[in-house]
Amino acid sequence: MSNTTLATYAAFSEQSRGRKIPEVASEHRDEFQRDRDRIVHSTGFRRLVYKTQVFVNHEGDLYRTRLTHSIEVAQIARTVARALRLNESLVEGISLAHDLGHTPFGHAGQDTLNHCMRDYGGFEHNLQSLRVVDELEAKYADFPGLNLTFETREGILKHCSAQNARQLGELGERFLRRQQPGLEAQIANLADAIAYNNHDVDDGFRAGLISLEQLREQKLFADQYDVVHERYPDLEDRRLIYEIIRRMINRVVSDLITTSQALIEKAAPRTIDDVRERSNLLIEFSDEVYQEHLQLKRFLNKSLYSHEKVRSMTGKAQKMIEVLFDRYMAEPSQMPQEFANRADNGEELRARVVADYVAGMTDRFAIAEHERLLSG
Ligand code: MG
Repeated sequence: MSNTTLATYAAFSEQSRGRKIPEVASEHRDEFQRDRDRIVHSTGFRRLVYKTQVFVNHEGDLYRTRLTHSIEVAQIARTVARALRLNESLVEGISLAHDLGHTPFGHAGQDTLNHCMRDYGGFEHNLQSLRVVDELEAKYADFPGLNLTFETREGILKHCSAQNARQLGELGERFLRRQQPGLEAQIANLADAIAYNNHDVDDGFRAGLISLEQLREQKLFADQYDVVHERYPDLEDRRLIYEIIRRMINRVVSDLITTSQALIEKAAPRTIDDVRERSNLLIEFSDEVYQEHLQLKRFLNKSLYSHEKVRSMTGKAQKMIEVLFDRYMAEPSQMPQEFANRADNGEELRARVVADYVAGMTDRFAIAEHERLLSG
C-alpha cells in the first residue's frame, strides 16, 4: 500500500522504531511486509495448524485450529485497517503472530502450564508469543528469533504484568505508564475477539454442543437470525448458521469501523505517538455492540468451553501437560539436545526451558511424547 493513502497517525514503515539488530532495507518490501513474511515462514507458524482452539485437532477435521483462527483474525484486521487508512501489512503481521506462543490443547494447556510454572515466574501465552519471535525461532544466521520491528512486537504483546513489563525495556513501558499501543495493534486485538466469537459459534454448533435455540437467545445472533429467516425461510440449518455468522461479522466489523472513525476524529491524533500517549483506546465497538459481543462471549464461555465434552478433553490435556513438565524437569535429557543443553543452569531457568519446549508442541506431538515417556 502506498504511504500516501495512509492516515498521518498510521504506522509508517520508514518511521519504524526499528529492529533490535539493525538490518539493511529490503529492495522490494517495506519493514512490516518483511515482518509478516518472516512470521509466515517461521516454524511456530507452521505448527499452528496442529494446535487447538477449543477442540483437539484430531477430533475432527472441520474445526478451527490456531492457524485458521490466525488467518481469520488477519482477514478481519486488514478490512478494518484499510477502511481506517491504517497499515494493512502491519496488522496482518501482528494478527498472524498473535497466537504463536500458544501451548498445545488450547485454554487447558495454557492454564496447566501456568500452574506448573507457578514457582518459576508463571506462563503467559501472550508473552510467549513475543518470546517465540524474539528468541526461540532459530532460522537466521545473524540474530536469534525473527528480529521483528518494534511495531510488530508492540502489537503482539497485548497484555503484560507490571513485573514482566519492567523486564521488557521500551516495549514494556506502556504497561507501566498505562498507555496504549498504535492503532494497528489495537485493531489486531479486537479482530481476535471478533474472530473467535464467530468461529466458536460455528464450531460449537456443528459439534452439537450448542443449539439454534440457545443461540437465538443471544442478541447478536438473534438479530441476524430474524433477517435471514425472513428472507430464506426454508434454508437448512447449516447454511442458515453460515449466513448468520457472515452477517454477524459484518455487523460488528462495520460497527467497529464507524465507532473508531468517530473516536479518532474526536481525538484528532496527528502521529502514531499521539495515539500511544493516550490512556484510552481509539479502536472500539459502540456500547451497544460491545454489550452484545460480551453476551455472546459469556454464553460461549458457559455453554461451550465448560461443556462436559470439552471439559473431559481438557481434563486429559491437563494430565498430559503435567506429566510432560514433571518428567522433563526431572530428566532434561528427555528433551532434544538444544533444549537439554540450555536446561543446565539452575532450577528456574530449567523450568523456563521446559515450558518453552512444551509450549512449542503440537497437540499430536504432545500426545505421542506423553505415550513415549509413560512407556519408557
Ligand atoms: Mg487469538
